Order: sequence, then C-alpha cells, then structure tokens
Amino acid sequence: MTKLVYTFGNGQAEGRARDHDVLGGKGANLAEMCSLGLPVPPGFTIIADACSAYYALGRRIDAGLKDEIRRGLETIEKATGRQFGAKDRPLLLSVRSGARISMPGMMDTVLNLGLNDETVQALGHDAGDARFAWDSYRRFIQMYADVVMGLDHEIFEEILEDQKARLGHELETELTASDWQQVVSLYKELIEEELGEEFPQDPEEQLWGAIGAVFASWMSARAVTYRQLHNIPGGWGTAVNVQAMVFGNLGNASATGVAFTRNPSTGERSLYGEFLVNAQGEDVVAGIRTPQSITEEGRINSGSDRPSLEKLMPEAFEELTHICTELEAHYRDMQDIEFTIERGKLWMLQTRSGKRSTKAAMKIAVDMVDEKLITEEQAVLRIEPSTLDQLLHPTIDPRVDRQVIGTGLPASPGAATGAIVFTAEEAVEAEEEGRKVILLRVETSPEDIHGMHAAEGILTTRGGMTSHAAVVARGMGVPCVVGAGTMRIDLRNERLIGVGVTLKKGDIITIDGSAGQVLRGEVPMIQPELSGDFGRIMGWADRVRRMTVRTNADTPADARAARAFGAEGIGLCRTEHMFFEGERIHVMREMILAEDEKGRRAALDKLLPMQRLDFTGLFTVMHGLPVTIRLLDPPLHEFLPKTEEEVVDVAAAMGMEAAALRQRVDALHEFNPMLGHRGCRLAISHPEIVEMQARAIFEAAIAAAQETGAAVVPEIMVPLVGLRSELDYVKERIDAVAGEVMTEAGMKIDYLVGTMIELPRAALRAHKIAEAAEFFSFGTNDLTQTTFGISRDDASAFIPTYQRKGIIEHDPFISLDFEGVGELISIAAERGRRTRNDMKLGICGEHGGDPASIHFCETIGLDYVSCSPFRVPIARLAAAQAVISNAQRR
Ligand code: ADP
Ligand code: MG
Ligand code: MG
Repeated sequence: MTKLVYTFGNGQAEGRARDHDVLGGKGANLAEMCSLGLPVPPGFTIIADACSAYYALGRRIDAGLKDEIRRGLETIEKATGRQFGAKDRPLLLSVRSGARISMPGMMDTVLNLGLNDETVQALGHDAGDARFAWDSYRRFIQMYADVVMGLDHEIFEEILEDQKARLGHELETELTASDWQQVVSLYKELIEEELGEEFPQDPEEQLWGAIGAVFASWMSARAVTYRQLHNIPGGWGTAVNVQAMVFGNLGNASATGVAFTRNPSTGERSLYGEFLVNAQGEDVVAGIRTPQSITEEGRINSGSDRPSLEKLMPEAFEELTHICTELEAHYRDMQDIEFTIERGKLWMLQTRSGKRSTKAAMKIAVDMVDEKLITEEQAVLRIEPSTLDQLLHPTIDPRVDRQVIGTGLPASPGAATGAIVFTAEEAVEAEEEGRKVILLRVETSPEDIHGMHAAEGILTTRGGMTSHAAVVARGMGVPCVVGAGTMRIDLRNERLIGVGVTLKKGDIITIDGSAGQVLRGEVPMIQPELSGDFGRIMGWADRVRRMTVRTNADTPADARAARAFGAEGIGLCRTEHMFFEGERIHVMREMILAEDEKGRRAALDKLLPMQRLDFTGLFTVMHGLPVTIRLLDPPLHEFLPKTEEEVVDVAAAMGMEAAALRQRVDALHEFNPMLGHRGCRLAISHPEIVEMQARAIFEAAIAAAQETGAAVVPEIMVPLVGLRSELDYVKERIDAVAGEVMTEAGMKIDYLVGTMIELPRAALRAHKIAEAAEFFSFGTNDLTQTTFGISRDDASAFIPTYQRKGIIEHDPFISLDFEGVGELISIAAERGRRTRNDMKLGICGEHGGDPASIHFCETIGLDYVSCSPFRVPIARLAAAQAVISNAQRR
C-alpha cells in the first residue's frame, strides 16, 4: 500500500526536498529543514495523491487515510508532549496546503486548530496568558468559518470593528482577554445565525473539516484560473501539511515574519524582510498593521523609526541569519522563508527558492559562483532566457513619478522618449536630422516600415499583441505600445488626445513598452548594462554553447545591433524590403508591368546598383562572417497598388491608362497567394530577377571584401523549393553569374547555394535536394503553415480557442511543434546529411529565438539558430542551457 502520511520533527523526517512531487514543495522543504536539524515545529504531510482520492470519493476522506493521520498525530503529540483536544496542555495545529509548484495565495491554511470552549481555557492557563488564548480562539473561528464553512471573513471584521469602537480602542493590541472573549461569543452567535449550525467543538471534526477544505481549495475558481495561466496540470492535486502551532502572538517577545536571504530586486547579499511583534502570520499579509524591517540596514533605507528585529530581538536575529546562510549553502540558491518567534525562540515555518527580478537573478548567480556555492554551468542554468529581454533596453528609472496620459498593450519592451510625429516620412526626416521621435499611428502597415525603423518608439491606438506594429517592433527591438485605446489621434489637426491632455506634433512623450504606458515629457532612464554580471554569464554560456547564433537582419543598422549582441552571422536577410523603399517601388512596378523580358531587364538594370549598395552595406558590417541572403520571395502583386485610388495615382505616375494597370493587377491576383506564384516559382518564371540579385550579391561581396579585408561568405538561399529540379534550375543561373562576376573582377570569393526547407515535400526529399543544395535553412514559419495547413495570418481566429479548449497546448507559430513539424525537420536533417555529411543546417523562423525550440535544435544537432537582433542574447543563453541539460540527462 502507498504510504500516505510522512512525518517530520525533532531532527528527523520521512521525506526529503527531492520528494516535492509527492509531498508538495512546502512539505518536502519542511522535511528537509528538519533533517538539517533546524527548528521546525513537528508535523506530517499528507501526500498530493490523496487529493485525487478525496475527489474520487466524492469529497470524502477515506477511513484508511484517517487512520494514518491519527498515527501522524500521535507522533506530533509525542514530540511536543501535548495532546490534541486535551483539557490540559492541548496541542494546536496548523493545516496548510502545499502543491508541487508554489501557487502563492491561491489555496487555504487554517491556524490554531483544536481550540474550543474548553481547550481555550487550558491554553490560557498553560501559557499564563488568557488574552493570548482568546486572541488565538477568535482567529481560529474566523479562519475556520471562512475556509471550511464558507462564511466571508469580512462579516467577522465588522463585528471586530464595532467592538473596538464600542470599547474606544484603536488597535487590536489594546483589547483585553475579556474583550476577546466577548468577540468570540459574538462570532459564534453570528455563525449560528448565518448557517443554523454551531461552530464545531470536536477537535477531530475540525481536523477533517480543515483537511477537506484544503483539498477542496485545489479546485477553487482562483486556483483553477491560476493553473491555466501558469500551465500547471490539474491532476497534480495539493498535499496537506498538518503541523504543531507555534505562537508569534504570545506577547511582546513573540513575532512572525518573512524574509529573503538576498535582496530579490537588486540581488544584493543581505537579508531582506519584514516582521510584526505579537502577531500571527496572516497579519503580515493582511496589511492591518505595517510590518517592520528585519535588519537595521533595511530600517534605515526605508526611513522608518520603528525598531528592526536586529535591534529588538538580537539573539533570534542572529540565529535567523545563521540559518539563512545554512539554507543557502544547502539549497545553493536564494531562499524565501517564513518564521515565527515564540517567547524568544525561533521556529522555521517555510523555505523555498525565492522569486527575483532578472537583474537580481544575474547578480545572485554570479555572486554564488564567486562564493563557490554553484558552478558556472549552474549559474547559466539559473537565468530564464526570455527574461533577458528586460535587460537589453533602456528602462524608466523606477524612482520617477509617472505622469501617465494613456495606456495600451506592452508590445515591445524598453522605454523611449521623443517628439511625436504622425507619419513615417516625418520620422525618417527627423532621423536624418538627428532628432528623436515617437511615431504615432492608428495602426501601422508595411509602408510604415522605414518610419518605424527611424523612430525611437512606436505608439498605436489600435491593434493587439500580434498586430503589425507589435510584431515588427519586437523584431526590430524598438519599444512599442499598441492599442492605446484611451488615447485618440486627430490626424487632421495633428494632435494626440490623452488622459487630461492634448498634445501636438513636436511635443515630447515617453513610452514604456514593458508596461504599456504613455507618459508625458522626458523621463530619466537607466541604460542597459551589457558588461558586468550579464557579460560574465554570457561568457560562461558561450563557452559551453555548441550551436552558432546568427541573426535575421535586412539592414546594416539591424546587423550592427545584432553583432553588438553577439550574433555570429546573418541567418536570414530578406530582400523584399529592398524593393519597397522610396524610388525603388516605382522601378519595381516598371519591371512587373513590362511587356517583355527586354523591358524587365531594363528596369532590373536600374535596380541593380541599389541592391548592390544595400548588400555592400550589410557585408561591410558583417565582415568576416557568413551571411545568408534569401532571393525574392513574395508574389509580385504585393508590389502593385491595391485600392482604386492607388491604381489611379500609380497609373498617372507611370504614364499609363488606369484601366490597363487595373487589368494587370487583376491578372496577377491570386486566390491563395501563400501557396501561389512566389518563392523559387518566381525565379523560374523570371530568371532575370535572380540574375540581377546574384550579380548584386557577388559584386557587393567583392567590393566589401576589398574595403574591409575580411570577406563575408554569401550563402544564397532559394526559397520555397519542393523539387530538386527547381533548385537545379535556379542554382545554374546563380553559378553562371558568379563565374561572370569573378572573371570581370579578377577575384575569387567563396559562396554557397542552398535552400530553405519550408515545404513538407522538401523535407521528405531532402536527400535528393541535398545533391544540389550546399546548406539547408529551416524556414519554420512557412514549414509550420504548410505542415498544419494553417495560414499564419488567419490563425488568430481559432488558435486561441484551440488553446482555451485544450485542443492544442502551444501556438505552433510561437513554440515549435516538436511532434509534427519537428519530425519533418529531423527527417530532413538526417536525409540531407546522408547525402552531404558536412551540410550546414540552421533554423531561421520566429522559432529561432524561442528557448524551447532552440533546445530542440540542439538536440537534433543543427549547426545554428537565427533570430531577430534583440533575441540574440536569449538564443545564446538558451543554446548553452540546452547543451548543459542534455548532458545532464545522459
Ligand atoms: P501560504 O502558502 O499561503 O504561505 P502557509 O501554509 O505558509 O500558507 O501559512 C501561512 C502562514 O501561516 C505562515 O506564513 C505562518 O506565518 C502561519 N503558519 C503556518 N503554519 C504555522 C505554524 N505551525 N505555527 C505558526 N504559524 C503558522
Ligand atoms: Mg507560506
Ligand atoms: Mg517562407
């Protein structure tokens, strides 16, 4: 039979910290502290599986479990020399929840259990303090009635307030034993009135009630919601800890408090916490009284004149300090602890690894390496990669008063200050003149890209976390607030109407993309610190990392930012934007609208120098590193006007009939452009486009190599290949141009031709395609679309519903679907390498910056991941963690 109850006390415990799946975090750590010989009130833990049994029995506690609990009680009685329900030296209990993962404040606790009209007398007699006994009894009734009997605690508080008012007292501490006794009678009357039943006097009945209520709190609405938000399985259940009470409310030599062994916001190595004299645990959180600082340092920093624990109870303080050091040495991590002091004696009630800010996490990990508590690899594992985002951008100084004039969604982290402008053109102009601006749009579209790049920050009044503005800004690492619905843009008068203010063009605002706030004026900022603790952690990560980290960058500015963050090459340079900007769109349209190849070539000749210039810029920044360039991918109609108005304008500009243009636009219309005339299909229909792009790339590579002395290795990537013959056709064109350019220049450079694997057919036929392809890059955005048959642009209509209904766990466009898409990647990697064993393999979709997906790439042995510039440090860390945890698993 499974053991259901694990006891702890007097330096011994049946459980261990590693048993947290069975005992819950709280129970496992209570057991561990006991084994370490720390002062923990004796008790026992009912395992979490008993919670499911409780539900299976229709919310009843099984008789077998009751027997084990009674035996557990006997151990506590022996350890304390007290008896549960006795009229002399009665044992009082706390009944506490404790799940595998801490769910703070979500579940219930009952304290002082075992009190009734008789034991309260005995307790008072025993302690020589009747006031304390009645104070404990009223606490118990109120908590039990709330947690077990379902009466809101507020109605009890009303009674207490009335009583205080009647007696002319301000503070609870002024109430005497008989005052509390009266409160107890009023409480009991209230329960009878409200529920038509008496407050239970039988301690065992109280115990079953409390245990059942703790089990039941696992399914409370707030706990269920919390689990959904944090991806915690509902099947786990909660363990229950039953423990002897110790009393922080036993006079002025007693206290209760909470502490972190290091500062959770700065990471500084000093005890940090709060306590209350003559109180029980719930008073600290309830906010009835203001807690005092534990250390003198903390007291001085908070400007308080109420004494610290260090001053007030120096012996207990010293013991607490020692215990904290011991716990840290044992757990090798910063701990979050709860303690109580009963008449000068310190008791430990809880320990767990403490939550901390990213900055503190860095400092603590680095300090612990220096203190020889953890290894460098352990330090690397301690940092959650996705939280690095917060460190890479300037942030608003936490000490400033925020004058918030609007709120929206925190779409892209970091803060930015600038003068407001209403168009992308104005943003570009400002950048050229060296002025800092915030671009304001109702929502953004692809035509705003250059303005979004030029702006310090972006603010929209419409749109969600996956709107164009949000996605693009995150990719660029530009702070962004979207959907600020409390603000209105009045474009005609160039005004922004916010809460209590109207601003005009040129006025200064600050946006906080991490909080989703819009502030008035300029605000002091804290600049990101890429050296120091961050630098050391990243250095350790880089030492163990196997995969290379590249970046997705289309412009020299992005490439430069990415290199500063440690990018080791470009994994994806999309070339389409090079056809959109300014003049170029007109030339591009000329090309598309040309009657024949000759006309197309004439237009392409004009585009060639522009493309060459783009690539030269990029290659200069990336000197000495590989750069993957994807040939033109989107369907041509994306470059043509859409609305009737635009058609008329463009036709006029191009000197053609609007009707003719409309006809051409219609002819290029596609029912499903995502699966239409795009990718290498364009290159096959119009090889002259590929030839122009290849020439621009090779000429630029030679020019940049001559300038920097360190050539890049261009890796030309052919998109959307499904057939080997498609790649053959395009590769032949590229190789021919390469030969021509090198002969003309009299200089040789290395280059590769490869393909994106983004169609299931390509993955399955990888061994054949690898005969022509010198590298594969997994385009996981398209591969996810084509594997699922889900269009990414339409997915938001149903993926959230799928997630809510439990049909799918993660959005496959955010975190790679290992089972399906992942299997195709594995197949392609394996088959590709079978043909060409030194084949370079990488991933360049959005997943390249997602830690779980990066772990997958490490596991199947890819050579690199590529992600947007601001995700480069995240990917470096995640790739290192994958190596370490894979090695640990072996
Ligand atoms: P939570 O998980 O919400 O923190 P706990 O089970 O830790 O709930 O209980 C809340 C508080 O109750 C503790 O911080 C402590 O102050 C008090 N408490 C719990 N057990 C005891 C005990 N055995 N003796 C005295 N106080 C206790
Ligand atoms: Mg607690
Ligand atoms: Mg693609």
